[in-house]
Amino acid sequence: MPPALSLSSRSLRTADSPISYFIQKAIETPGLISLAAGLVDESAFPSAEIAQVVAEMMANPATAKAALQYGSTQGLPALRARVLDRVCTADGVKPSDINLTLGDVVLTTGSQQMLYLLGEVLIEPGDIVLAEAPSYFVYHDCLKSHGAKVIGVPMDDGGMCLKSLEKELIRLELAGELKKVKLIYTVDYFQNPTGLTLARDRRPKLVELAKRFSKHHRILILEDAAYRELRYDGDDITSIKRFDTTNEYVIYTTTFSKPCSPGLKTGYSLLPNDLVAPVCNLKGNHDFGSSNLAQHILNRLLETGAFDRHLVRLREVYRSKRDAMLTAIATEFASCPGVRWNVPAGGLYVWMTFPSGTPTGKGSPLVEAAVSEGVLYIPGNLGHVPNEQGKVPDHEIRLSFGVAEPSEIAEGVRRLRRAYAELETS
Ligand code: PMP
Repeated sequence: MPPALSLSSRSLRTADSPISYFIQKAIETPGLISLAAGLVDESAFPSAEIAQVVAEMMANPATAKAALQYGSTQGLPALRARVLDRVCTADGVKPSDINLTLGDVVLTTGSQQMLYLLGEVLIEPGDIVLAEAPSYFVYHDCLKSHGAKVIGVPMDDGGMCLKSLEKELIRLELAGELKKVKLIYTVDYFQNPTGLTLARDRRPKLVELAKRFSKHHRILILEDAAYRELRYDGDDITSIKRFDTTNEYVIYTTTFSKPCSPGLKTGYSLLPNDLVAPVCNLKGNHDFGSSNLAQHILNRLLETGAFDRHLVRLREVYRSKRDAMLTAIATEFASCPGVRWNVPAGGLYVWMTFPSGTPTGKGSPLVEAAVSEGVLYIPGNLGHVPNEQGKVPDHEIRLSFGVAEPSEIAEGVRRLRRAYAELETS
């Protein structure tokens, strides 16, 4: 036996994601319908558009060289300009109205890299992040790896409850812990995992709360708008960033993974100006720049309008998948007392709540019955952080309509109903 590895404390705090168990189940169970993974639709990938853009780029020696060479740590200026314009146009402002310039835009390897980098830049072990309860569980793991303590803030139909957030901030202040609060994390459009969107009137109030409690240092709001462009009903809602008129309190981060292709693995963020250098200095250590080729491809897709045409089609695809899931759930579960589900106006997820006392997690009768019926979901407890007693709500699930075809989605829900029926009768 060789001597043991001497791993860093960061490595020791970083466990395999609990989702690996569910991915493994999906791989080893033939015929299983996975409503678990947050992957995106494969039939709708803009492959023809990407093929054309790449062919044109490679046919011209100048553009080929530009795309195949190293880029810069902060990312391709032309693409940064386009995404800045895109977000500001959606918000009905000019960049200068909210004190933004091209220098505040950073491109990353997916928005996941920005989430990770912010942990590296801002978090010391023991620091606190306030996040919706439940929240994006992959980020919980990432924050844990940085040594942060995540405190869950309850949600209602309008997303994060600001009264609860305020109460928690007051409690932390009285306990002398406000110094440790670094971030308020919100997935504010069609949240992963609940599908809920932060209500319009809460957005400016959230910025005000962050300002009010920024007594020791700036408490930053991390607005993870990963699903903003996947809206199927109603009009877009102004970002939280829009209300940060001095560009000091809100980090806006989003991605091309959901509305285009995760294979391009490109995310973009608008940062408070004094955060740009710390983030880019660390990003330089990671990679001195994300894929330059991917950035050139996306730049051309945006420039030619191919991206927006694709988005119109993609929204249709997801709208019909979402409807297939909601119709199947309403048909199968309408007569089940205490079973509830949301109706997301966008995104990729439907959140279902079973009566309390119906555990849904790893090893629970429901998950076992679901797998033997041939369907997989994500247990809701993964998105929660344990309370003081170490308990998390364990009777919720996340269903994703991203990958499966509408007929598979309907069949998956029927299988889930059969699994639930086994519990009802046992
Ligand atoms: N934020 C949220 C809420 C997500 O669901 C995801 C991906 N599932 C990401 C960020 C990261 O996506 P990517 O790195 O592909 O941009």
